[in-house]
Amino acid sequence: MPKKAPKNAFYFFMVDFREEQRKKGINYGKMNEVADAAGPFWRDATPAIKAKYEQIAKQEKEKNNIPDKKYTSTGIPLSEIERQEKELREAVEAELKDIKNLVKLKSFNGEIINEDFYIMDVNYYCKVGSGYLIGESTILRFNLQDGIHEIYHEIVNPGYIPVGYASDVKYFSNELGLDMPDESGRSNYMQILANTIDYLKKKDRNSKILPPIFVMPDKILPVQDFIQQMCYRAGEDIALFRVYRLDSLFFTLINAIKTRPDEGFPKESLAIQQLKKDMFKYTPGVGCSHHEESDKAIECTASRVKRQAYTILDSCCPVVGIEPQPGKHLPADYHMESILIYKEQKRGRLAPSVANARDVACSSIASDSFFDQSTLNSTSDSIKKEQRTYTPLRMPKTDYSLKLRQAPELTETNFPTLSAGHGRGRGLAGSFNKLKLNK
Ligand SMILES: [Zn+2]
Repeated sequence: MPKKAPKNAFYFFMVDFREEQRKKGINYGKMNEVADAAGPFWRDATPAIKAKYEQIAKQEKEKNNIPDKKYTSTGIPLSEIERQEKELREAVEAELKDIKNLVKLKSFNGEIINEDFYIMDVNYYCKVGSGYLIGESTILRFNLQDGIHEIYHEIVNPGYIPVGYASDVKYFSNELGLDMPDESGRSNYMQILANTIDYLKKKDRNSKILPPIFVMPDKILPVQDFIQQMCYRAGEDIALFRVYRLDSLFFTLINAIKTRPDEGFPKESLAIQQLKKDMFKYTPGVGCSHHEESDKAIECTASRVKRQAYTILDSCCPVVGIEPQPGKHLPADYHMESILIYKEQKRGRLAPSVANARDVACSSIASDSFFDQSTLNSTSDSIKKEQRTYTPLRMPKTDYSLKLRQAPELTETNFPTLSAGHGRGRGLAGSFNKLKLNK
């Protein structure tokens, strides 16, 4: 038998078989002779006997600590995959709990309307292994009472292109309206991290913990990676940062502040649907100066975080009775017609009875000529909601319906230093430094 191989049930059967035969005066030489003789007896053995020897083999295996490992096709132990999945599940649960605690606590004593929330978005040139080559980043602060505050925006220049990624980087810089990475103008990641922490602490200078950063689900990994790259260079602890899903916040927030059963979202998926609808997509002038000069303003991270905040404010402000103001809760030059309809709906919504609501609606309609006559007799909330229009202020010059090309998935051999298990903070930053420049 090969050395160290775990012994199976038949082996232990043979041991007993040989011993019994020896007592009868029959002696065998090597184990293969025993195997030949014992084979037919093993085949005919009852299930109970077989089970007995299976049990012995199992106990022996455990005694010798031979792991019963199963592997995926890529050679990763299944137990490791299960452990990672469990960790991920626990992280998601902890995240939701954290968001709920924050929102519920503040809703309970009415502070929620002044609670600041932070939204972040990044643009990346390409995915390199498990890392991302970031090209732009924006963080935005908002609260329900005051709407959007000033943002923190950075055009990020990673300085070089990893070997083999030149065409990807070129493609995405064009798609996203970014300049190609440039060796001479490389961004100071430590400075960006300092600015980020400074921005997150603006409201509470003495706070030891940073507020969570809310991000659209598809940008969670790039944002986490960007923070990790910065933390690695600055020797900062990445555990300072909590990167959470924006749709989870939206869902929790609106359901915490709602006062009527028909408000809020019955399902969490409705929050992400609302955000993805991106009703303020064509708002002009909300991008950074770099993007506003190009025809890719829609892809600007500054524009995106503002649109996301507008979407949340647009849904949540009426629920807590806050009048949305253009420039704060809505884009500065938001289509006035839509705002008037919006106001109309709000008044209708807050009216105590159907009859009353109709009175309010009619009295204001008299002075608003744009209002369609067919709505005069309607007091239904659902119909009113449909009347609310979001006229695009500017149509895109390019077709954005085309999905962005996915960056190729790479293995360790393509990008050797980005292997899993190098520990957090080690992956990308360290690897890029070791790579030769592609120019
Ligand atoms: Zn931009």
